[in-house]
Amino acid sequence: MSEPQFFHQGDLVAVLTSQPLDRVLDYKAPEGGCWQGAFVEVPLGPRKVLGVVWGAGAGDYDHAKIRPVIRVLDVAPMQQSMAEFLRRVSDYTLTPMSKMLRLATRAPGLGDPPSMRQVYRLGAQTELRMTAARQKVLAVLEEFAELSFTLKELSEAAGVTASVVKGLVKLGAVAEMATPQDMPFAHLNPGLPGKSLSEDQAHAVAQLQANTVGYRTTLLKGVTGSGKTEVYLEAVASCLKERRQALVLLPEIALTAEFLTRVEARFGARPAEWHSGVTMTERRRTWKMVGQGHAQMVVGARSALFLPFQDLGLIVVDEEHDSSYKQEDGVLYNARDMAVLRASLVGGQVVLASATPSLESWANVEAKKYTKIELKSRFGVSVLPEMMAIDMRQENLPADRWISPSLQKMVEARIWAGEQSLLFINRRGYAPITLCRACGDQVGCDHCDARMVEHRFQKRLMCHQCGASKPVPKICPSCAAENRLAVVGPGVERLAEEATALFPEAKVAVLSSDLFGSARALKEQIAKLAAGEVDVIIGTQLVAKGHNFPKLTLVGVIDADLGLQGSDLRAAERTFQLMRQVAGRAGRSDKPGVAALQTHQPEHPVIRAILDGDEEAFWSAEAQARAQAGVPPYGRLVGVVLSSPDAQEAFEVAQAMARNCQPLTDIGAQIFGPAPAPIARIRGRHRVRLLIKAEKNAPIQSALSAWSAQFKFPNALRLSIDIDPQSFY
Ligand code: ADP
Ligand code: ZN
Repeated sequence: MSEPQFFHQGDLVAVLTSQPLDRVLDYKAPEGGCWQGAFVEVPLGPRKVLGVVWGAGAGDYDHAKIRPVIRVLDVAPMQQSMAEFLRRVSDYTLTPMSKMLRLATRAPGLGDPPSMRQVYRLGAQTELRMTAARQKVLAVLEEFAELSFTLKELSEAAGVTASVVKGLVKLGAVAEMATPQDMPFAHLNPGLPGKSLSEDQAHAVAQLQANTVGYRTTLLKGVTGSGKTEVYLEAVASCLKERRQALVLLPEIALTAEFLTRVEARFGARPAEWHSGVTMTERRRTWKMVGQGHAQMVVGARSALFLPFQDLGLIVVDEEHDSSYKQEDGVLYNARDMAVLRASLVGGQVVLASATPSLESWANVEAKKYTKIELKSRFGVSVLPEMMAIDMRQENLPADRWISPSLQKMVEARIWAGEQSLLFINRRGYAPITLCRACGDQVGCDHCDARMVEHRFQKRLMCHQCGASKPVPKICPSCAAENRLAVVGPGVERLAEEATALFPEAKVAVLSSDLFGSARALKEQIAKLAAGEVDVIIGTQLVAKGHNFPKLTLVGVIDADLGLQGSDLRAAERTFQLMRQVAGRAGRSDKPGVAALQTHQPEHPVIRAILDGDEEAFWSAEAQARAQAGVPPYGRLVGVVLSSPDAQEAFEVAQAMARNCQPLTDIGAQIFGPAPAPIARIRGRHRVRLLIKAEKNAPIQSALSAWSAQFKFPNALRLSIDIDPQSFY
């Protein structure tokens, strides 16, 4: 990559803004000049907008009308490698650059001067009437003389009211001062000793530390509990020692709390955080400090990949198989794949960690693009759970009950032994269907083509597509019959009800993402469960992801067949991963665990592979099937969705697109559809789907651009092109 250019005052510069213009605009460099990559404020019509100096101006615009840049913002300029990263993601996902810039500047008030906040320290020695409360405040300030406290922190630490502190300020005994809020992050010390590693782990660390110069991707595979986190923390340590920055991506905010504690234990301070639970001020601080190199490590969700790292040396993608790494609206990117791209542009390392890697990564290892490191055993004495099937065809289960007698007995044995059980069902809410016994109608969403799910805790029916909700009706919305509505099927809440009735002496708790008002409440609940305060945990997908429950020795999967239905290309893969992950929750410390799968088809190949623990067999069979069908990761799919309030219009445009597909057929691609999307209406918009299939190395992006450029789309119609779709809805 070339060196950034400098522009003197008055030179023409091209500025990329986050406004949807699809081109860069010419401005004059401001007084003092500016560097390529500088973040600037420019006038656009009557407004001032944020932009980046992209390069030299084209000069194809009336010179007299060109306005100067208003000012250069006091933040680190965008690096050339970042600009290139944005360009490459834009090309790959067919996203306009303006949208890419918005993704890369998702922090408020970047141009604002750092805002100030009041902090408190020890003031002058003064004569004052000492009270117990005043004494406590001064004692805290003396003990932590090197720290500054906010009013809230200080009064909490001293256990007094804010007015006591304010009173001391008036008397001069406590000093009040303003400091900028965008402070550097505390220093992480990679020199602190790590845990002593098992032979397996030490070997993995040595492999990761060998040859850290330049780009490389490593798949770190190991069963849950084998110490992958421990191992990649050592990779983070090496990265920090080289004075480069490290980024750890986690699939779930709920996981960050536990992880941050581990980072603090390892490096002596907490890293920066970047996810939807972080306040706006904190986001801005992180964005700025990452850019200035004053944040050594960031822990975050997928969009942290677009932070302006000064020198990114390592990206860890934990639970790399997780489908939440795919962003499903706005810019449709897969953070796992883009992490690899980003690292390759800055000569950094990528570690993809998982107990159950995606077929994509498995195939990349086979193709020798990624290196694989495997941790074979669990750390310490814990061993993998024993896997067994409960054949539901043999169980005598009354209607509206889901816990089989066999499973019930197993749970009871755990309760007596003071151990935990987890009953897993991947369905939120009370019941998936509310049906009228008089007319047979199922209560659906008014805006979507989806059934409403009863949530009994909230006493409402909710649509899991658009989030719309309404009170549970007393009469059938369709035929007005009274008292004839009945719920069908289980959700996590209904299962909890059954468990409470079956195990009256046990403490039962539900873990489902929608039951907690805030990330904090969820964290607290997880901590409680981990501490073993509960006998039976009823959980959704959320529990499958990396939490540690040391007392857990039984996992019962209520419906192992659930994920095998449906036409998703990854149905088998997802079921396999999910079941193995859930099963991996059992027996994490010194007690071996059992995982019992309730199934109606114990002879199904996926269920068999899970029970036998024969991963290689499963992946080889799955790889062969996909290669034969020419689908990912051996072929390429593109999902195209047209949506409009007018169903007819969406369908007609889709038909025209399917007919005029020369640019696609020219590269050997096939086009399927149009067909109504599996969810044919979302938020009142009708959705029609086309599916494009191409060879893996076909130049699909340019063909798609040429193809879609042929059409003029009606105003109300939206076109969404999803390269490498993860979900097909
Ligand atoms: P994974 O990420 O593969 O699920 P973890 O790194 O979370 O595994 O390890 C599982 C548990 O074992 C954690 O509580 C961790 O602290 C502990 N552990 C792993 N390796 C070691 C080690 N070398 N020394 C001490 N404890 C370890
Ligand atoms: Zn809806």
